[in-house]
Amino acid sequence: LKILLKADWIITRELEEIKDGYAVIKDGKILSYERRKPEADYFELELELKGILYPPFVNAHTHLELSGIDFSPEKIEDFISWLRWIVKKVRSLKREELREAVERGLRESLAGGAAFVGDISSFGVSPEVLKDKGVVFREFIGKEPPRNFPTPLSIHSIYSVSADAIRELVRRSLDRGSPYQIHVAESVEEVKFARCERNRFEEEIYPFLGRERYERLCAEGVVDYLKRVGALTEKLIAVHITNLNEKEIDELTERGAGVVLCPRSNVHLKVGFPSVARLMGYEKLSLGTDGRSSNLSLSIVSELKALYYALRGEVSLRRLFPLITTNGAKVLEIGDYWERAIFTFLKCDRAYPDPFAPLLLDEVEFEILDFSSTPVI
Ligand SMILES: [Zn+2]
Repeated sequence: LKILLKADWIITRELEEIKDGYAVIKDGKILSYERRKPEADYFELELELKGILYPPFVNAHTHLELSGIDFSPEKIEDFISWLRWIVKKVRSLKREELREAVERGLRESLAGGAAFVGDISSFGVSPEVLKDKGVVFREFIGKEPPRNFPTPLSIHSIYSVSADAIRELVRRSLDRGSPYQIHVAESVEEVKFARCERNRFEEEIYPFLGRERYERLCAEGVVDYLKRVGALTEKLIAVHITNLNEKEIDELTERGAGVVLCPRSNVHLKVGFPSVARLMGYEKLSLGTDGRSSNLSLSIVSELKALYYALRGEVSLRRLFPLITTNGAKVLEIGDYWERAIFTFLKCDRAYPDPFAPLLLDEVEFEILDFSSTPVI
């Protein structure tokens, strides 16, 4: 089946901008982009779209199972008090609420234009709901590495997973060639933990959980800690990195690790702001909303806006755009992203002089157009 799409603007997967462009789709795959209508060709379906056709947006870090949690940044004093609050909240979740939460989160995410999410599943519910709409990382927290745990994995963090378990789970991921997410240096307390300095995990969180620090592995910082447990590889997806210094950030990028920033979540939890300038131009730099457990919406475009304004408008939307599209696909290793005929579409009543400025507007509504299986007519 051959389809021709025309739109006021098309952004290709190579991030080229075509005004009044065409996309040719054959059997669910993007065959080509054209500046002029391919005359000699026959199409079973021709659609003229008033608006902007983007590559599908990618939200590289979410916790959709936690979409039912009533988070308010105004109630949060600091990261450690939030952690105590969220541990209690998560413990009280009922199984039947989880499915509904994932469905609700997915709906919200799709309405925000994200056709793909990198979701962290603590309960194993989101894989059933998400299917091909994302990559689900099964989360592990604890001391003993579990047997028969499906990959890809989320190894929660260095303060919540034992060094032995991190080693083992990374080894298993590498054996299977699968990426793994780790929350990295989200708070300054984690840096102190890595260095074996006094920290509030040991003083407040572990007593609250009724356990002690698993082992005293002392490092120069969080990245050095990851190195010592064999976790600093190109399959690592480092989430947050709010409290890494420039040298540590360079080590991550030199190693080829993926990075996901969640700027609004960082602001809500008052943990600082990542060094974005250092990372601009890195092709495995992506954005995530984090969960409703630390954010007020799952709109990846709102995340982009927050970043744009935090950078005082000095980095253009055009340069930030890969963070919610192709970079996210590289980080999550969505192999068919470049050919699969799925688009994020923004319907516009008037023609815009450029295709990125509308991303800053309020009240824009995105649609996911999926021609990758049966065409929607
Ligand atoms: Zn997270």
